[in-house]
Amino acid sequence: MSGTVTPELATRLDAVRARIAAAAAAAGRDPADVRLIAVTKTHPVEVAAAACAAGLEDLGENRTGELLMKAAAVPAARWHLVGRLQRNKVRDVVGRGWLLHAVDRRPLVDAIAARAEALGVVQDVLVQVNVGADPAKAGCDLADLEGLVTYAAARPGLRVRGLMTVPPLPPPGEDPGDAAAPLFARLRTARDALRDRVPALEELSMGMSEDLEAAVREGATMVRIGTALFGARPEVRP
Ligand SMILES: *Cc1c(COP(=O)(O)O)cnc(C)c1O
Repeated sequence: MSGTVTPELATRLDAVRARIAAAAAAAGRDPADVRLIAVTKTHPVEVAAAACAAGLEDLGENRTGELLMKAAAVPAARWHLVGRLQRNKVRDVVGRGWLLHAVDRRPLVDAIAARAEALGVVQDVLVQVNVGADPAKAGCDLADLEGLVTYAAARPGLRVRGLMTVPPLPPPGEDPGDAAAPLFARLRTARDALRDRVPALEELSMGMSEDLEAAVREGATMVRIGTALFGARPEVRP
């Protein structure tokens, strides 16, 4: 499907890129080291096609079914599964060149690795960490991270490319970036501590529409942006 770029999308994309560039400049970083992943979840497939036409190379979804549908319609994009992966969906997503951001437990590692090894491919994944210890959020505990990463890195079918986190909702009235910054810093410290043993561990997937500046300042290599690019999400999914 080919997409049509609305003036509104073009304006919002310029604004997001300017925010990334300003935050990178303030942190002495190259903005090219921050990959913008456009999260099109709940929006119709035409929105994904438009994002691709606007020059967004990386698109993300948080549900497997929606990812499969949109990736089939917009195959030119590099697709990311930023949400939870269920074990019974593993065979649908492994070996397609997508990045799986939310691997957070050993049974899932086992299922992904087994599928990849059966296909003779290496599946890139990120390990999701619940740095805020938020009971409402997925992700492994910081205390279990080293064990999970080394467990996953030992599987030939799986390459752990980095870490991902979703911070808790900020307390009312608090700036989302200020609330998330210490958690982003904790994710970076955790990655740095493991990098000697797992050299592929380069990526930090952190930062969304409301806190991307803090994430870039703390070293994000991927930000996952939905609302700031596509507006408020419809209540009902397509
Ligand atoms: C929806 C979603 C995003 C994008 O959130 P916005 O606040 O709309 O930018 C990022 N990451 C994950 C995991 C998501 O589910």
